[in-house]
Amino acid sequence: MVNSVFSTGMRTDLCGEIDKEYEGGKVTLSGWVNKRRDHGKLIFVDLRDFSGVVQLIFDSKINNNSYLMAREIRNEYVIKVTGKVRMRSKDTVNISISTGEIEIVVEDVTIFSRSKTPPFMIEDRNKVEENVRLEYRYIDLRAKKMQENIRLRHKITAATRDYFNSRGFLEIETPVLGKSTPEGARDFLVPSRLNPGKFYALPQSPQLFKQILMFSGFDRCYQIARCFRDEDLRADRQPEFTQIDLEMTFVEVEDVIRMIEGLFNYLFKTVFGKEIEPYFKRITWKNSMEIYGTDKPDLRFGLNIKDISEIFKKSGLKIFSKTLKNNDGFIKGIVIDDCSALTRKDIDDIVEMAKKSGAGGLIWIKIGKNLDFQSPIAKFLSEKEKKDLIKTLSLKENNLLLIVADKYMVTCRSLGIIRNHVAHKLKLVDEDRFNFIWVYDFPLFEWDDRENRISPVHHPFTKPDDNTAGYLDKDPLKVKSEAYDIVLNGEEIGGGSIRINDTNLQKKIFKILQIDENRVEENFGFFVRAMEHGIPPHGGIALGMDRLVMLLGKLDSIREVIAFPKTQSAVCMLTGSPSVVSEEQLREVHINIMEEEK
Ligand code: ASP
Repeated sequence: MVNSVFSTGMRTDLCGEIDKEYEGGKVTLSGWVNKRRDHGKLIFVDLRDFSGVVQLIFDSKINNNSYLMAREIRNEYVIKVTGKVRMRSKDTVNISISTGEIEIVVEDVTIFSRSKTPPFMIEDRNKVEENVRLEYRYIDLRAKKMQENIRLRHKITAATRDYFNSRGFLEIETPVLGKSTPEGARDFLVPSRLNPGKFYALPQSPQLFKQILMFSGFDRCYQIARCFRDEDLRADRQPEFTQIDLEMTFVEVEDVIRMIEGLFNYLFKTVFGKEIEPYFKRITWKNSMEIYGTDKPDLRFGLNIKDISEIFKKSGLKIFSKTLKNNDGFIKGIVIDDCSALTRKDIDDIVEMAKKSGAGGLIWIKIGKNLDFQSPIAKFLSEKEKKDLIKTLSLKENNLLLIVADKYMVTCRSLGIIRNHVAHKLKLVDEDRFNFIWVYDFPLFEWDDRENRISPVHHPFTKPDDNTAGYLDKDPLKVKSEAYDIVLNGEEIGGGSIRINDTNLQKKIFKILQIDENRVEENFGFFVRAMEHGIPPHGGIALGMDRLVMLLGKLDSIREVIAFPKTQSAVCMLTGSPSVVSEEQLREVHINIMEEEK
């Protein structure tokens, strides 16, 4: 069947395509030796390409030359064979692979290249340390799973492009050698040879350029953009990552939200052949914090956080009364249905987890027979408080109530962490569900304890919401924004906003963020000047491609969907970057390396 797009001068078909329809036909295949089994006068070889594996048979009686060559063949050799397709004998049929009913009797073989003994067997990759897999990534990527992952990523990228291209978007590239801006994460810097002492910064996102493209009248644009942030790497972060970044002109929040819901519907249909809900649920940031203790709520399970402060207004328990005296103090709890599922050690771990997340502690109450309260604090609770708890939380025998009493944010956040932990521990998460939710009505600013100043929740170009913009001068922390985040299964997969399109307002925001005029000029002067030349209302969003593919592929790590990822310490195990460069190179870019500080 010489009609596949994959037919070349070196193969007629792909290994995985050969089935009983080919019986009696002649094929030429090229690929890697997946396995070789020597049965004396017969040698079996499983030949592999990206499409699958097919069994070859080298029979000394049929073609002794080929048979003799097959004796030399080892795993991962790259070969070409020509042979006849025949049905396997009934007892050797392998129904677990698509080619399992046939085999190819080889008449001619060419060895293209030999392989050293691989550092690990491809099928054993799960048992191999990840750094070894990353060092020999070319072998790791040969595994079926990795082929599937990278192909899935390609499909999602291609479908994303199709979707936006058919909706009037232009794909426009923006510079990778950019300007360092002090906001956000740390920049990666690139020294300029032609401009001694000056540096480019690699883009943390194409934010300002995509906005300027809107100022220039391109109406809608997108990019599958590579972004760089020089941060200490947490579990699922990479120093370079990919965003689906887009910007639209003359839009309101609703328009961007609908565009992205459409994208996900299109992706599910084209990539997985699945229908999903056309419109996603929405939750305000405040409700999300209150009910789920996070701005990345996972709605695939219950365990909602309930406020029980009211019940303890007159509590005799010091920790409760003291907390409530503080005007930012709250008492909140979550109810676990079946406490027998958690051991004493599990509960101790949960208490530790609460402490680690900043709470003073965690109180637990087991509900025993006759709704008896079993807890170190049981004797300090009045009958009325117990009754009110039972009523408000509909407590039943065997329930476990976990309570945190602390400042508002600490209470929400720590219970949010515990909620996720317990749900996974008790396997309450429906792993088959894809649960999308929009979070909106974010505060525009938050207080940064470390820097001891106000900082933007999203970025400084986010438009304040009209209803609360009046607080900008008096109490900026009360101002909300026209920003939105999209969350999938408890992970933020994107965020964006309607942007400021008024120069004075933009300057005011910089002022509130304590970026003085000189720094504004130095870092954003070009942008503010561009805003002074007639700019349309506009807004956009960026979706994290790596995380998105990971979640859609139901994988555990973004490194599984990046062909050449870096390690936690930002090292490429394959190439050994970053690496030392020569004195000459350093001189050319005017850099003098300081002695490491002791
Ligand atoms: N530039 C933002 C980010 O990278 C997204 C946006 O506002 O469009 O997170």
